[in-house]
Amino acid sequence: MGSTEIVWFRRDLRVRDHPALHGAVADAEQVVPLFVVDPRITGGPAGSGPRAHFLAGCLVELDAALRERGGRLVVRHGDPADVLVALAEETGARAVRWTGDASPFAQRRDARVTEALEAAGVRAIPSPGQYVVDPSVPRTGQGKPYTVYSPFGRNWEHQDRRTVLDAPSAIAVPQVSGEGLAGPDDLGADGLPDAPEPFARPGEEAGLRAARAWLDGPIQDYDELHDVLAGKPGSRRASGGTSGLSPHLRWGTISPRWLEARARKLSGEGPAAFVRQLAWRDFYAHVYLFHPEDRRRAHQERYRELEWEDDDEALQAWKDGRTGYPLVDAGMRQLATTGWMHNRARLVVGSFLTKDLHVDWTAGERHFYALLQDGEPNQNDGNWQWVTSIGVDPKPYFQRMFNPTRQMARFDPDGRYVRRWVPELADVPDARITEPWRMSREEQEAAGCVIGEDYPAPIVDHAVERERAAARYRGAAD
Ligand SMILES: Cc1cc2nc3c(=O)[nH]c(=O)nc-3n(C[C@H](O)[C@H](O)[C@H](O)COP(=O)(O)OP(=O)(O)OC[C@H]3O[C@@H](n4cnc5c(N)ncnc54)[C@H](O)[C@@H]3O)c2cc1C
Repeated sequence: MGSTEIVWFRRDLRVRDHPALHGAVADAEQVVPLFVVDPRITGGPAGSGPRAHFLAGCLVELDAALRERGGRLVVRHGDPADVLVALAEETGARAVRWTGDASPFAQRRDARVTEALEAAGVRAIPSPGQYVVDPSVPRTGQGKPYTVYSPFGRNWEHQDRRTVLDAPSAIAVPQVSGEGLAGPDDLGADGLPDAPEPFARPGEEAGLRAARAWLDGPIQDYDELHDVLAGKPGSRRASGGTSGLSPHLRWGTISPRWLEARARKLSGEGPAAFVRQLAWRDFYAHVYLFHPEDRRRAHQERYRELEWEDDDEALQAWKDGRTGYPLVDAGMRQLATTGWMHNRARLVVGSFLTKDLHVDWTAGERHFYALLQDGEPNQNDGNWQWVTSIGVDPKPYFQRMFNPTRQMARFDPDGRYVRRWVPELADVPDARITEPWRMSREEQEAAGCVIGEDYPAPIVDHAVERERAAARYRGAAD
């Protein structure tokens, strides 16, 4: 038997630009590409219908890509430490490689797995591939990790970049048993359905197609259009003016380093602004690597005692997209229907939940996590803390208190986004679409949208709730 190494796939479900796979194929005669169904990830509250369905599709595609190269994906169930030690023994593998992951859960798990492998005399080799830059590297002048984005971004810009790698042309897998590819129910769906109209298609080929379509044109307008919810007039892009690549970045079906390298080859403000967004992703990886205790706990100590209201009815109206504020409702319905939401809408619905309805941000974070194809602990937690004004990259709370009416007037002025997701408002005239409750009875009837019957009246008054939120934040900081 020749030398053997295991490549443990997690959320790096591709064959191109995959340093761990590349390294194993270069160093060993035989490689076991492995996915472990870990009940601590797939069971319990972390389950998600849309994400489990997306993941199941990615595994099918990864298996196909490996088969094209003479290999296949081996799937086993159990605690990764036990599975990997047993498989190394079974195959005589001398090393296990994987793509490093900065989430607090992954950090703890990988430390445990490393210990178990080393005790069994097997090398553990974490490799890059999940981020553009290794998130453990950027440091302030005093050698500390960053908690503010702008200086992190400047430092990130100057870090070394690794070379982008091709997919291996051939992969030789030894004789080894597997358990068949895992389906959505094995992967956390547990009977939960997929999104009715899933936003992204799973797998590396779909990711590459989406990325190439983005790089070939729309990226040029990113600087100008990234906040315009419906994107360029006449465009039918489901993600409006943004790339829509987040599910592929989340599952590693495209490589962030490859994407950055391709974007940097393009000139202009659009590609430069897009690269800065990839730095935000690395920023939150960096933050949670150094502050794992911040998961579901306010980073800013003064806001850990912030008061919240238990308002189940309001929370349900928010989840259902029935708050009476068109932009909030459009965002929440886009999420429920597709498993994705535009970033500008995420900001507005996040601010609305925490500062208009005064509901604890962790309820919003959990709801997002249950439905987003791109739901990812670091990015979700970090962004929820950002919009709640309790996290890193701090700004006074009132600067991130979004007025849902004004936000709509700025970022969906003609109501294309709102009309797409809230069909009751389809015939409301442009002049009334941001505040449909101001229509006269005649206007409501002409638009086929009677407020209180066809579409709810606003469940709260933003101007009033804004003052109450300000009092809560002032109270907590005193
Ligand atoms: C309350 C809230 C929750 C969020 N939860 C998640 C989440 O669970 N997973 C997730 O990937 N993103 C999350 N985001 C960040 C952002 O909304 C999405 O990454 C973005 O909407 C994805 O769309 P896109 O790929 O078209 O983004 P683009 O604008 O095209 O950006 C390209 C990529 O840059 C990264 N990026 C962009 N904005 C951010 C950001 N603010 N923070 C971190 N990375 C960013 C993403 O990987 C994104 O795919 C959240 C934002 C908010 C306000």
